[in-house]
Amino acid sequence: MVPFNASLNRRQFVSVLAAGSAVFLPLSDIRAVRPTGQLSIKEAIDRIIAAITQEPYASTVDTVKSGDPSIPLSGIVTTMFATLDVIRKAAALKANLIIAHEPTFYNHTDDTGWLEDHDVFRFKRDLLATHNIVVWRFHDYWHANKPDGIRQGVLAAVQWEKYQRKDVPSLLRIPAMSLREIAIHFKKQLGITSLRTIGDLAQRCETVGLLPGAPGGRSQMMFTREHTPDVLITGELQEWETSEYYRDLASMGRKQSLIVLGHSVSEEPGMRWLVDWLKPKFPGTAITHLPSGDPFTWL
Ligand SMILES: [Zn+2]
Repeated sequence: MVPFNASLNRRQFVSVLAAGSAVFLPLSDIRAVRPTGQLSIKEAIDRIIAAITQEPYASTVDTVKSGDPSIPLSGIVTTMFATLDVIRKAAALKANLIIAHEPTFYNHTDDTGWLEDHDVFRFKRDLLATHNIVVWRFHDYWHANKPDGIRQGVLAAVQWEKYQRKDVPSLLRIPAMSLREIAIHFKKQLGITSLRTIGDLAQRCETVGLLPGAPGGRSQMMFTREHTPDVLITGELQEWETSEYYRDLASMGRKQSLIVLGHSVSEEPGMRWLVDWLKPKFPGTAITHLPSGDPFTWL
């Protein structure tokens, strides 16, 4: 266990937590101001968590997924998924920290016990080891930040920050546009090949709910009931949940529509936005966004 000192402030406590029980560095060492070129990856992660407007989580999926974080930081790559392609490009950039929003090993907690016999798992694990790359997931903290880094990145990408409501950050009031116009705007601004809608494409929309990623069916439907946006824009849904809810709304004659962007493409702008957020915290460190992109081919 990590000794707990009630006088530690939040920033110090984060450092202690991240140091873990095996390595317990004096806080003065961790907090000393040094050029980021001499930072370890663990110290870089501490610095990021300390800058987030959220108390450290007791339990989070934002953990190191590969590699040894005690090595010196050589460069940072941000992305949605640490794909094989992203790993190879990070290695070519000589960046040894990949900050990924989503899992590396195909399940929410990156549990790998069941994957030991899978070639695809072993290939990725070995590729990361060959290049000495640390993958750290930055999901819970990035969403918990004020503002939510993912949503803010999407709003910046579609240039709709000015329409955001202060009281409900996921709700926007936009100049009236048709459902078709909104869908085309998102396709163009986010570089999406194809997306799906439910509702009348000619419907005039002024209130927009924006829930990128996969917030879950119940969240999507409760948001719809509470705020009744003209259109809800989300990343991913279960095809037997929210889409059926919206199909029934449409059949009832309600003017409430749905746009499903796709998970990866709906959150990628938030990992691009992260680069600008990180830069002042890591002067002198190369920070690059590598989009992992849409895994699907659309026919
Ligand atoms: Zn997310």
